[in-house]
Amino acid sequence: MLYISTRGSTSTRTAGMPFTEAVLTGLAADGGLLLPERFPNIGSDLAAWRRLSFTALAQRLFRLYADDVAAADMDAIIADAFAAFDHPSVVPITDLGEFQLLELFHGPTLSFKDVALQVLGRLFEHILGRSGGRLNIIGATSGDTGSAAIHGVRGRANISIFMLYPNGRVSPLQELQMTTVTDRNVHCLAIDGSFDDCQSIVKALFGDLAFKERHRLGAVNSMNWARVLAQMSYYAYAALQSPAPPTFAVPTGNFGNIFAGIAVREMGLPIRRFVLATNANDILARFFQTGIYRRGPVRHTISPSMDIQIASNFERFLYLRLGRDAERVKRFLASFAANGEAQLKDGKPIDDGIAAIAISEDETLATIRDVYRRHGYVLDPHTAVGVAAARQACTSESPICMAAAHPAKFPEPVAAATDGAGVVPHPTLEQLDSAVVRKTVLPADQGAVMEYVQAHAT
Ligand SMILES: *Cc1c(COP(=O)(O)O)cnc(C)c1O
Repeated sequence: MLYISTRGSTSTRTAGMPFTEAVLTGLAADGGLLLPERFPNIGSDLAAWRRLSFTALAQRLFRLYADDVAAADMDAIIADAFAAFDHPSVVPITDLGEFQLLELFHGPTLSFKDVALQVLGRLFEHILGRSGGRLNIIGATSGDTGSAAIHGVRGRANISIFMLYPNGRVSPLQELQMTTVTDRNVHCLAIDGSFDDCQSIVKALFGDLAFKERHRLGAVNSMNWARVLAQMSYYAYAALQSPAPPTFAVPTGNFGNIFAGIAVREMGLPIRRFVLATNANDILARFFQTGIYRRGPVRHTISPSMDIQIASNFERFLYLRLGRDAERVKRFLASFAANGEAQLKDGKPIDDGIAAIAISEDETLATIRDVYRRHGYVLDPHTAVGVAAARQACTSESPICMAAAHPAKFPEPVAAATDGAGVVPHPTLEQLDSAVVRKTVLPADQGAVMEYVQAHAT
């Protein structure tokens, strides 16, 4: 399987690049995102795949897309990655009747990001071990990606990680989950700015091809194809467990999680539709409702991992939506860069089997409260955004809602919604308070970050 850029050229070569190169590169040289040149259709395998465990299913999927890694090696990486989860089913499904929860938070940092990043860290180490290479991972995080990425690569050979996050704008717990990892290959950079500032700096470093080449920069953001691929596994698993084509409700920030679902649908997996849920940062909801993609101010909410206005993975959707026409993608993005706005159709909603809904802070809290009262189940605020949207959109079906994080990661909103009753401790988080912390504060300045990376790169 070869990988091509959403902007038309992958590198100097005209054909695409193999999987391992796509994984190490992260972003294409022309600034686009990498996608497989086609999505294999698995329609004829569905009956056999229904019986597979989650881990076995993920192994099958990776074989289709990661064909330049030996199958036995890839299988071992995946088995090892999911053995790090604290539930035997890895991603168990809890049925509350009115909806089901696909619990994606049983990994080491308690968010769905672990599903992909436990695989990716091991995959990086394997590929580098084979080629004798090294890698400096640069990423921006609004919270959960950072800790999951750091836990995925901590202590691994030939890899360093530099994680930028907005100083003071991730939850104290989220920050501790990063800064208490004191392995020498881990660098937490607290940037005085917003998440979008962090993401812009990361994009600029990748855009500086000389710098990227010199330091062998790699990405772990949801821009990395291997992350999307790992996440595709749980959509396939849940869809195959389902007696009828399911509706998935997905809380969205960077469009990463939901794009994995769309990719699985491209493979011929029966999916009824998606409910795309945003918080007050509603650029994606507005886009699907109106066809107009218009930047707004970043708002800070109780679901901080979705406080994003520029969704990096949206470009992958755009590319598919525009019939894989990279020129049209570039025109759309150029218009957005110049005017802060671009449109696909003249003020018409985009259907594509996606119902998009923005959820307010009050609705989020009310949903946590109501689900706790009705079912005794505590939702984290991100999951609650998805559940609230699902309740609005689904009148005739029982949707599968992505349970994106463990509620113990977000004690303040959970306490506020349940008068303290729903606050659940988690042993992983209780250890953090007494641990040693290491971080570096930097201004929101590309030069300052480049200097730091220069001085500390592997
Ligand atoms: C990252 C994250 C999201 C948003 O996911 P995207 O892939 O950026 O759309 C939602 N909820 C939680 C808990 C997250 O960690």
